[in-house]
Amino acid sequence: MTLLLPKEIRKIGTTDLKITWNDLHQSLYPFPYLRQNCRCAFCIDERSGKQILIKDNVNPNLEAFKVTPVGQYALRIDFSDGHNTGLYTLQHLRQLCPCKECS
Ligand SMILES: [Zn+2]
Ligand SMILES: [Zn+2]
Repeated sequence: MTLLLPKEIRKIGTTDLKITWNDLHQSLYPFPYLRQNCRCAFCIDERSGKQILIKDNVNPNLEAFKVTPVGQYALRIDFSDGHNTGLYTLQHLRQLCPCKECS
């Protein structure tokens, strides 16, 4: 099995993140959707694993200023609401792919 890695990571305007994977699958993630699935200590209770973040409170027009690769395994996203503590591992991102094929 080959390791899934992004071939290309691109911001689509201010609304979406597009990842083209090395198996040529393409994932398009709206930024509010990524924000809703943040797994940092502010959004997920570490002990129970329960989500603290209230998804409905995420601004549907949320943007991202910056997407920064962290090593070979994750992305850090600077959201326009000031949240930037979440690390999105590539594995998690692939699981989050909202396309029909993956869901
Ligand atoms: Zn978070
Ligand atoms: Zn997909």
